[in-house]
Amino acid sequence: MTLNLPTLWHDALEKVKTWARVNSPWLIHYNSGSCNGCDIEILATLTPRYDAERFGVKLQGSPRHADVLICTGPVTLQSKERLRRIYEQMPEPKFVVAVGSCAISGGVFDGCYNVVGHIDELLPVDMYIPGCPPRPEAILDGLVKLLRSLQDGQIERLETRPLAT
Ligand code: SF4
Repeated sequence: MTLNLPTLWHDALEKVKTWARVNSPWLIHYNSGSCNGCDIEILATLTPRYDAERFGVKLQGSPRHADVLICTGPVTLQSKERLRRIYEQMPEPKFVVAVGSCAISGGVFDGCYNVVGHIDELLPVDMYIPGCPPRPEAILDGLVKLLRSLQDGQIERLETRPLAT
């Protein structure tokens, strides 16, 4: 019997990478035009009361260190290019979570003169968390479901998908 060592090493390395990714997702948060209601709920989710850190979740400031982009609000004309630039600066594989009705569909801001769309018209969204605003428990639930789908291999994002123009 011959062992294919390169394949074994490759599989082991992939398992370690998935384990690390699932156990320490670093988030970057961007408000592309929300009323701040969703942002307050995200911040509440990250406090010790809801303790997102038990899942390894950590908020940090640089897109270059982030695995997950968590977005709130519709996309306004002013924020569109900034949102795109943040996404492009994140290393692969990267994931996008849309939080709140406005991020998902434009919500109450849909049709406003300064709104150009919602998040998935610009970026590939992996997880939608509905609500106006969603409660911290719902945000945690969405994050855990995202991590579970990464672990199960349901989401694989090894190459950048083309962005909408
Ligand atoms: S979903 Fe509700 S709370 Fe969130 S940004 Fe829109 S209006 Fe504000």
